Amino acid sequence: MLVLKFGGTSVGSVENIITVKHIINDGNRKVVVLSAMSGTTNALVTFSEYIAETESEKALQCITTLQALYSETIQQLFSNHILKTEVIAYVGTVFKTLETAVNTKHTLVLHNTIVAQGELLSTFIFSRFLQQEGLNARLLPALDFMRIDKNNEPDNFYIKQNLNRLFNANPEADIYITQGFICLDAEGEISNLNRGGSDYTATIIGAVLEAEEVQIWTDIDGFHNNDPRFVNNTKAISNLSFDEAAELAYFGAKILHPQTVMPVRALDIPVRLKNTMAPEAHGTLITNTIHGEGIKAIAAKDNITAIKIKSARMLLAHGFLKKIFEIFERYETSIDMITTSEIAVSLTIDNTTYLDAITEELERFATVEIDNYMSIICLVGNTIIYHPDTPNLFQVLQDVNVRMIAYGGSNNNISLLVNTSDKLETLQKLQRYVFEAEPIVV
Ligand code: ASP
Repeated sequence: MLVLKFGGTSVGSVENIITVKHIINDGNRKVVVLSAMSGTTNALVTFSEYIAETESEKALQCITTLQALYSETIQQLFSNHILKTEVIAYVGTVFKTLETAVNTKHTLVLHNTIVAQGELLSTFIFSRFLQQEGLNARLLPALDFMRIDKNNEPDNFYIKQNLNRLFNANPEADIYITQGFICLDAEGEISNLNRGGSDYTATIIGAVLEAEEVQIWTDIDGFHNNDPRFVNNTKAISNLSFDEAAELAYFGAKILHPQTVMPVRALDIPVRLKNTMAPEAHGTLITNTIHGEGIKAIAAKDNITAIKIKSARMLLAHGFLKKIFEIFERYETSIDMITTSEIAVSLTIDNTTYLDAITEELERFATVEIDNYMSIICLVGNTIIYHPDTPNLFQVLQDVNVRMIAYGGSNNNISLLVNTSDKLETLQKLQRYVFEAEPIVV
């Protein structure tokens, strides 16, 4: 069994929906996980925010515009009158329900129910389209099997039992379509796996089914060696290890949801990143096998806050780090980078929800300095910290204002903290020296 996930752009236009049909129509049995059509989740989030702000007019305007896009797509996609009528009725009910939500009390469950509609719409439309085209496909509702536990981790036992039950009830299909991103929480309420979570859905399903391979189809030909939004001449990377992919996904490479490789890594199920717009391109294959050496890729993550915690009493004292970590633990705030000196600790976080409370607690025993608008630039490659060319990196960076460096935390990663205003220049400089110029680093 294969699991194929298609992102928002892949199902975001009539042309691309037809392309996806061709890609999946190869006679192999598969599960197809779909995102919402591109722009839909953002629009639904905005809609939900307007409801929270009791901006009813703006909220209604937002979904009217969205509904018009759906009407147009349906008109172009369906020639079968019965199926077209069925899809129009379904989409109409979804938008009617959204409309009635406008004047209700805004809660987390309401928000999650609203943002779930994108995947519910795309999968309904796509499954009926496949039916029109004569493909043997079944829609398996994700809310009938995908659930997270109290710690927001996939409830694998529940997922396996229920997914198998659904397969057994629909044994004759070739293609099983389901929603990415959405799930139930431990209380049985609608929830989700966070933005971009459809990738994670695909690998959770892949692991449960012990799939041959999980394919993530997007609009770029795999992981690139630098961020193509900021740097020219980036190249797709053909092979990555799970470790390398996990570091890149976490530290900013937008192509993959950070948790994607977790479910499949221990089972050694390959993850292949493919481009719907260029299906013949190799893409990136992520496995346990290590390929190449030296710096393989560079990625950047914004919205980082650096916290410097300084205590005169840290000198020769023990237990200082424990005290600090306990505070972050209590506020469920994870730390990304950390460096220490004898009298101070600098660390970074990306979730500032509890920053004020954390600062207040830290200030009881230390002085605290906070720097916002920082970016982590992450360099990834198998055992890069031992590579003979890696020290040259510091020469390259001599005129970049680096606030922190994490070197040696893992063998595959070097992280630099810079002001976001210096990010572009740093990425471009690294690109020139690492991948283009005289071979400072192979
Ligand atoms: N539709 C969701 C989002 O835009 C999930 C996904 O696309 O993976 O974040």
